[in-house]
Amino acid sequence: MSPFPHVSAGRSFGNRSNIGLSEHRIAENEAVFRDSNRRLDERYQELGIVAERIPFLCECGNERCTQVITLTPAEYAQIRAHPSYFLLVPGHQILASETVVAEHDGYTVVEKGTSVLRTVEEIEESLFRQ
Ligand SMILES: [Zn+2]
Repeated sequence: MSPFPHVSAGRSFGNRSNIGLSEHRIAENEAVFRDSNRRLDERYQELGIVAERIPFLCECGNERCTQVITLTPAEYAQIRAHPSYFLLVPGHQILASETVVAEHDGYTVVEKGTSVLRTVEEIEESLFRQ
């Protein structure tokens, strides 16, 4: 079984151009990946995985991004403790409103500006209602 059951099969490798992606579309992608990571984290917890580095999805706004970041559940929890923080592969920040708050070995943490964050949260709520 794929470890990422919530990722649509439509994601593919290839050109990483962000031209034409609206801010709303970017927020939508970020909401989907963050939701997927939350579910992955729940699954890892169910499996009792706590110490080793485990794969999470890059939460950037590029729907074509399929990159995986490995970090420990504790590192992930630190990011998730801040509602405005997102986990990215270094260099994957797209919007000017994304501020890098931490750079680690293999991943970057960005903070979203409030307008984009509101859109992401609205989309997440609609995902949870499904
Ligand atoms: Zn990415």
